[in-house]
Amino acid sequence: MLFDEVSRYYERLENTSSRLAMVDILSELFSKARPDEIKNLIYMTQGVLAPSFEGVQIGMAEKFTEAAIAMASGYSKEDSIASFRKTGDMGLTAEEFIKKGKLRTLSRKELEVNYVFESMLKIAGTSGHGSQESKIKMLVELLASASPLEARYMTRFALGTLRLGAGDATILESLSKAYTGDRNAKPKLENAYNICNDLGRVGQTLSEKGIPGIERLKVSLFSPIRPALAERLPTADAILERMGGKCAIESKYDGFRVQVHIDRKKKKVEMFSRNLEKTTEMFPDLAKAALLEVRAAEAILEGEALAYDDTTGEFRPFQETIQRKRKHDIAEKSAAFPLHLFAFDLMYLDGEDYLGKPYEERREKLESIIKGDGTIRFSDRIIATTPRQIDKYFEEAVESGLEGIVAKDLHAPYIAGARKFSWIKLKRSYKGELSDTVDLVILGYYLGKGQRTEFGFGGLLAGTYNENRDVFETITRIGTGFSEKQMETLGSILRKIKVARRPARVDALIEPHFWVEPKYVVTVRADEITRSPTHTCGKPEGKPDEPGFALRFPRLVSDGVREDKGAEDATTTKEIAEMYNMQKKVKVTD
Ligand code: ATP
Repeated sequence: MLFDEVSRYYERLENTSSRLAMVDILSELFSKARPDEIKNLIYMTQGVLAPSFEGVQIGMAEKFTEAAIAMASGYSKEDSIASFRKTGDMGLTAEEFIKKGKLRTLSRKELEVNYVFESMLKIAGTSGHGSQESKIKMLVELLASASPLEARYMTRFALGTLRLGAGDATILESLSKAYTGDRNAKPKLENAYNICNDLGRVGQTLSEKGIPGIERLKVSLFSPIRPALAERLPTADAILERMGGKCAIESKYDGFRVQVHIDRKKKKVEMFSRNLEKTTEMFPDLAKAALLEVRAAEAILEGEALAYDDTTGEFRPFQETIQRKRKHDIAEKSAAFPLHLFAFDLMYLDGEDYLGKPYEERREKLESIIKGDGTIRFSDRIIATTPRQIDKYFEEAVESGLEGIVAKDLHAPYIAGARKFSWIKLKRSYKGELSDTVDLVILGYYLGKGQRTEFGFGGLLAGTYNENRDVFETITRIGTGFSEKQMETLGSILRKIKVARRPARVDALIEPHFWVEPKYVVTVRADEITRSPTHTCGKPEGKPDEPGFALRFPRLVSDGVREDKGAEDATTTKEIAEMYNMQKKVKVTD
């Protein structure tokens, strides 16, 4: 398949404002790819070179790209800089310069999509002395062979600013349509994706082995599993009823979720965060402990990493744990507050997939392979059969500085990548006002007035993720309560992901000053969820007169953006509807 054809599809994608049309365009594109091309094509469409857990960064620096554009077209670097100032988009600058290029010697060649992708991989993998020159040279070669439209997309791809707006669910739906003729295979594909978190691998398996191959896809070491998530219920009674009268109650630790992959023979450990980015470097002490304390040749387990003072029995909060990210003081911090992993699940052991086994069996096995008194502990738990037991455990958990509890269905499998009632969380904040926080995705921003003008930022338009429709819906504007530092940071990161118009997967009735690519998540506290005609969150499709949900008195609680959550990990519209109902019930019983 030629990159020229891919570029034309990308142009169509860029020009559509409907998600359904995106699925049509993408499925047509995918159906044209050969089995040896589909994987690369999917990554390219996502704007990446590999699944995120592999940590391969594409981002070529702007100034080198400017140089490459100038060299390929025969213009001066100053010309390309001046054009970029005007367009604000290096892709458009490249397109313009290749179109009017002076150097006819650098002739147009047909470029295969695999060739372009592999060249980009080579560019990303080039490092060390003289690497900048080599990177520029490789990009010049590509650009000099490209058509103007190809130049637009390859430049954006090289810079990491492709932003076609196709989310995971849209890509899965398009694959289903491309290979089976309709969207019905999406749940099966989603299942496979939840297990391997690699859309390229799902696409390739589908293309080579069809749906039977997809059904056979198994957990594999060092390919992270998408995490199971918890539902909410407001009371111990409700939890017990839902669980059928008996369940496990675990402490809910407010730390950093870690999925640990261990290969003892190779002495290799990798750790992944909640949104499945590699975090091994962040927790060297845990990696060491995983090899020493887990008695298994191969294992995948999960837990909450938390700084915990053994002598005082004191848990340190999330913010403190996350500070370890700043690599330079990891060693210092490790000594002050030793990090522990409170293990709570086992997904794979010595060649055997544990996802389908019931919670009780997984937990028993987990306890049999770890002693539990070293760096790796177990999440504390009881088996409860009365609401009183749950309430008592909950009160004690909160008193010792924990966030609350997670109830677990004794018989349920590990449900990867989904929020189900097999896990139910109850946090200290559910009683009374809506003091549980929500994680919202930033959809746009406003310019400030008065003093705030200098930051180029005055407020946010934020939204939830609607899983069923695979779109983002607005729920609130946040215009107050920002510190100067927050305004400065938000202004500078949002400017970089500004897009010219409302992305196809954003559903909104209001217009911010600037739309952004849905990418960053912030944690927000509000007094209440209310009904609102202005926001699209929860507004039934095709019924513009029915209200959606909004937040009353929203304010930011995260320092900046959440590093452990991507746009699709934001609070969902369904969760907001449930929280709204819970809030009503609490009010009535109060
Ligand atoms: P929250 O902000 O409430 O943690 P979340 O969206 O990150 O929400 P949920 O699925 O709603 O995640 O809640 C489960 C989270 O609680 C897990 O992601 C995990 O990080 C944390 N956690 C702490 N202790 C436990 C435990 N014992 N079992 C499962 N999850 C736990």
